[in-house]
Amino acid sequence: MGCSSEGVAAALRAAAEVVAEHRSELVELDRAIGDGDHGENMSRGFTAIVSALETEVPATPAGVAKLAATTLISKVGGAAGPLYGTAFLRASTRLGDADSLDVPLLVAALQAALDGVQARGKAVGGDATMVDALIPAVSAAEACPADASIADVLTAAADAADRGAESTVDLVPRKGRASYLGERAVGHMDPGARSTALLLRAFAEAAR
Ligand code: ADP
Ligand code: MG
Ligand code: MG
Repeated sequence: MGCSSEGVAAALRAAAEVVAEHRSELVELDRAIGDGDHGENMSRGFTAIVSALETEVPATPAGVAKLAATTLISKVGGAAGPLYGTAFLRASTRLGDADSLDVPLLVAALQAALDGVQARGKAVGGDATMVDALIPAVSAAEACPADASIADVLTAAADAADRGAESTVDLVPRKGRASYLGERAVGHMDPGARSTALLLRAFAEAAR
């Protein structure tokens, strides 16, 4: 079963709710090893996406992803806005003119999103960034059986992203603000890895 542009819009609205619910958690995580604005940045960005979708829901999944990308890039400063913006932009390009999202296209779009984040931010696995949630998420999505549903794939991705975010607790950050702390950042979860896991969980729940 596929997912229309309305389905993708619904997933983004669900993500906005989850981000709002976890706003202070993300602020606390970023306060420990960064500048404390990640919850605010994410919440502002996703609130703006929901408003943009109220004006018009684009006709294709790619159009919706592109709207999310341009909104995040224009409304969210710092590291996460351009990085998530690039993720949605690359996903949008990969989705092309398909009017419905199926599992192979979803997996390809997730891979494109990861590639975009890495091209833009130059982080590799183990640098303690959102990439540590995204890499295992994409691998888990790719490993799903051929008959998996979109919800199954997103749930596997979200489960893997949760473990990936957890793994950042023990890592020395090598990218972004947290890298300024070096060893002193060990013992804290990366806020962007946590927000990536939250977004994927919201998408998975929306797909059920
Ligand atoms: P800022 O650090 O500019 O205040 P945010 O707090 O919104 O921006 O986002 C911080 C998150 O961005 C980090 O937790 C990390 O996951 C992610 N991040 C920062 N730099 C990079 C990078 N070069 N590559 C991938 N992710 C990064
Ligand atoms: Mg910050
Ligand atoms: Mg900041």
